[in-house]
Amino acid sequence: MAKGRESDADTQPRGVRWHRVCPKMAMILTQCAACATELGLSLGKKCGRCSTRYCGPECQVQHWKEGGHDKLCKLIKKAGGAEQYNANQKYTAAVAVAAEACAEDTKGQTCYICTQALHWKTKEGLVRGCSCRGTAGFAHVSCLAEQAKILVAEGEENNLGRKARDERWLRWDRCSLCEQRYHGVVSCALGWACWKMYLGRPESDKVRRSAMTTLGNALSDAKHFKDALSVREAELSMERRVGAAEEDLLVARGNLAGTYRNLGRIEEALQMRRDVYFGLLRLYGEEHGETLREAGNYANLLNQVKRFEEVKALLRKTLPVARRVFSESNELTLKMRWNYAGALYADPVSTLNDLREAVATFEDIERTVRRVFGGAHPLVEAIELHLRKSRAALAARDPQPLGA
Ligand SMILES: [Zn+2]
Ligand SMILES: [Zn+2]
Ligand SMILES: [Zn+2]
Ligand SMILES: [Zn+2]
Repeated sequence: MAKGRESDADTQPRGVRWHRVCPKMAMILTQCAACATELGLSLGKKCGRCSTRYCGPECQVQHWKEGGHDKLCKLIKKAGGAEQYNANQKYTAAVAVAAEACAEDTKGQTCYICTQALHWKTKEGLVRGCSCRGTAGFAHVSCLAEQAKILVAEGEENNLGRKARDERWLRWDRCSLCEQRYHGVVSCALGWACWKMYLGRPESDKVRRSAMTTLGNALSDAKHFKDALSVREAELSMERRVGAAEEDLLVARGNLAGTYRNLGRIEEALQMRRDVYFGLLRLYGEEHGETLREAGNYANLLNQVKRFEEVKALLRKTLPVARRVFSESNELTLKMRWNYAGALYADPVSTLNDLREAVATFEDIERTVRRVFGGAHPLVEAIELHLRKSRAALAARDPQPLGA
C-alpha cells in the first residue's frame, strides 16, 4: 500500500489561514551563510548591514574576506536584506528553470495575460503547468504573479470576507482558466514569487503567513523536500512563538508531517500524524472534513509501516462516518476504502474472507474511479495494480477461486 497516487493525499496543502498574531520576523534562511551550520530561527550572528546570518564572528570575517560578502553586502542590503535577496535569487532561478522545462510545449505560443511571447520587461519565456489543453493557459510566471498580487490587494483594500479572499489567494497556486493546481516547476516558481512578494510584511500579517504556507506547498510539489522542510519548520516555530490558535498549529504540523514522510522520516511523520488526528478529533469532532482527511492520511501512513491492525481499527471507526458525511464516490471515501482493502490483503494474518473482501472492494473502487474521474486518470492505473496484487494474494490462498 501507500504507493502511487495515494501518497498525494498526504502532501496536499491545507487551507490558507487569516488569523492575526503578534509581529516579529521569521526567517526561512536558517543556516550560516559561510559554513551552512543549522542555526534555527534565532541563533548566530547577523551582518549589521544586510542581516546575512553566521554561526559566529569567525565565519562572518571569513565570509567577508574570502567568501565574497564584501562585494555582495551592499547589494543584499539594497534588495531589502538577506531574506528578500535570497527569495529574489531563488525566484529568478526558478522562473528560468520553469521556462526552460516548458520551452518545447510553449513554442510559438503567447501569454494569455500580456499577449506577448517574450515578456516585455523580464524577457522570460512562457510556462504552462496546469491542466489547460490546446492553445490555452500559456503565460509568464511574472504575469501570473502580477495577476495574483492585484487580486489579493483588491481583496485587502475592499475588506472582502474570508471566502472571497481565499478565492483570490487561489491564484497563487491554481490556474484561473482550468481551475487546476499548478504542478512541478511552475508551482515552484510561483511559490517563490508569492513569498518574495509578501515576506517583507510583519509576521502578524495574515498574507505573509499564507505566503509561507504557499511556498512550503510549492516546494513540496516540486519535490524540493529539504527546502520545504525548512519552510515548514520555520512556520511552525513562528506560530508556536507567537501563540497561534490550535487549529493553525494543527494545520502547520499536518503539513510538516507530510514533509517528514516525503523525506523518509517515517517515525516522526507517524507521531505527528497521530497527534494531529487526535487534535482535530478533539477540536472539530469526528464528522468534520479535516478530521476525516487526517484519518485517511494517518491510515495511509500506518499501511506504509505495515501496522495493519491499527489501519483496520482506525478505518472501521472512521469509514462509516466518511460514508455518511460524504458520498460514496467522494475521493476521500474512496481513498479510505482503498486503504482498508490494502490492509486486508497485505496483512499476513488475514483470513480468506478478508482477501475476498479486499478484491471485491478494489473491483468496486475501480468501477467508481473510472466512472467519476475517467479512464485516463492516474488513480485508475494505481488501482489496477492493487487489484492485480490482491487477486494474486487471493489466488495463492484460495483452493477454489471464485469466478476466476
Ligand atoms: Zn559558520
Ligand atoms: Zn552584509
Ligand atoms: Zn505575460
Ligand atoms: Zn490551466
